[in-house]
Amino acid sequence: MNQPTTKAPLQVLICELCQQSYEMPSSQRSYQGLCPSHWSKDTLREWDRLDSARRHLQPGRPNTLTLLEWLGIVTAYRGMCALCEMNRMDALAIWIPASGLQAGNVAPLCRVCHYHKEHSFLSAMDRVSAQLESYH
Ligand SMILES: [Zn+2]
Ligand SMILES: [Zn+2]
Repeated sequence: MNQPTTKAPLQVLICELCQQSYEMPSSQRSYQGLCPSHWSKDTLREWDRLDSARRHLQPGRPNTLTLLEWLGIVTAYRGMCALCEMNRMDALAIWIPASGLQAGNVAPLCRVCHYHKEHSFLSAMDRVSAQLESYH
């Protein structure tokens, strides 16, 4: 006896890039947010990055950055880190925390520059200066 085929329920989603609705089986989580014609590995990675930044944003802070704007910013820096301009970008950095997620307040940074931005280049300079002092 044949088992009745259980089709995964379709969900209607809106593509973040073209704003067109599209249908996807609800099991395919990784497709959420991008229609089949806008889906690509690179775009999906940036969508995940933006999605995670939105979820970690402190409540009450501006939250207007669109995927299209973020992709434009990444492209403007040719996928490189905005600070060192040597390494590939690896993080969406919010420049001034209080200004939140908006086009004029985010930059792509590499992992190392992101660390230094969060922990301050000056503290690293102070730490090395203190070590050098010990030689005098
Ligand atoms: Zn689309
Ligand atoms: Zn960098």
